[in-house]
Amino acid sequence: MIIILKPATAAAMQAKLIAEFGTSHEIFTHANRIAIQGLTPAQLPTDVRAASTDVLTDVPAAVQSSRLFHPEDTIIRTPHSVIGGNHFVMMAGPCSVESAGHVERMAEVAKQGGATVVRGGAFKPRTSPYSFQGLGEEGLRDLRAAADQNDLDMITEVMDDEHVAMVAQYTDIFQIGARNMQNFSLLKAVGRTQIPVALKRGMSATIDDVLNAAEYIAAGGNHQIMLLERGIRTFDNKYTRNTFDLGAVPVLQELTHYPVIVDPSHAVGTWELVTPMAMAGVAAGASGMIVEIHDDPTHALSDGPQALKPKTYLKMAKQAFQLHDLVQSWA
Ligand code: PEP
Ligand code: MN
Repeated sequence: MIIILKPATAAAMQAKLIAEFGTSHEIFTHANRIAIQGLTPAQLPTDVRAASTDVLTDVPAAVQSSRLFHPEDTIIRTPHSVIGGNHFVMMAGPCSVESAGHVERMAEVAKQGGATVVRGGAFKPRTSPYSFQGLGEEGLRDLRAAADQNDLDMITEVMDDEHVAMVAQYTDIFQIGARNMQNFSLLKAVGRTQIPVALKRGMSATIDDVLNAAEYIAAGGNHQIMLLERGIRTFDNKYTRNTFDLGAVPVLQELTHYPVIVDPSHAVGTWELVTPMAMAGVAAGASGMIVEIHDDPTHALSDGPQALKPKTYLKMAKQAFQLHDLVQSWA
């Protein structure tokens, strides 16, 4: 149940409800709203009911992630980026951090295209244990240096709850990979930090699964969450690596207040398809994109086939910003 209180007495009524039900029920407050789990409207004190404008009983389990509880967009501010709402953030970089020099060059290219965040995996979730697993902490150091040299923020994947403290020393944004979207101990661990988290949709995750995964992070006290649509598994992956679920963009924006970012690279898996689907993501209203780039894709240590070469990336990025401005002008 979510109770929408008249602003004048909201704080007093929230305090009263917390005093009365705080030990027996899960309670969250946001502005003039209060969410209480497991209580019926009939159990509310009469003065609370009188001080409310609405009582919502059809409330999703992921209540803190819901727009019913938090109507306005969450805007995440990192040193160089504003993420969410009508802002558009470009995140670009190689799939994996391959070397200090390489990631530094790619960060420069990312920046030239208007990116404010550089990506790169130092801990890689590979399908095969014999594939390149990432440079580990050395990769984090290299990516941090590349970001700093170009005045960019850094995003990198954290794969294991035991690594959260170490990755936190380097990164501005944690990436939770698709394979780990329901790794609840990892979600809880990043939820205990105050570092923004980019949560990737699992390959077979429903929208409600995504929202509940986000709720795990919020439940720990970290509300700086962004959701990444990176394609899901369907019956046909012959021509595209995954199926880019564009509908998820407006659906998530309706259901939740968190920024929605698209990842056309992992969605399609081949570089020729990245630009059209990147544009589709922008047209669908995404608050940003994360895209893989590489200057020598055939020798990339991971995901080479889907990497945009610098020239292609720069053209795509320019179009993306233009299209975002156009979409905003319609709003
Ligand atoms: C990645 O970003 O390189 C990655 C492994 O993505 P995903 O978790 O979406 O597969
Ligand atoms: Mn990748």
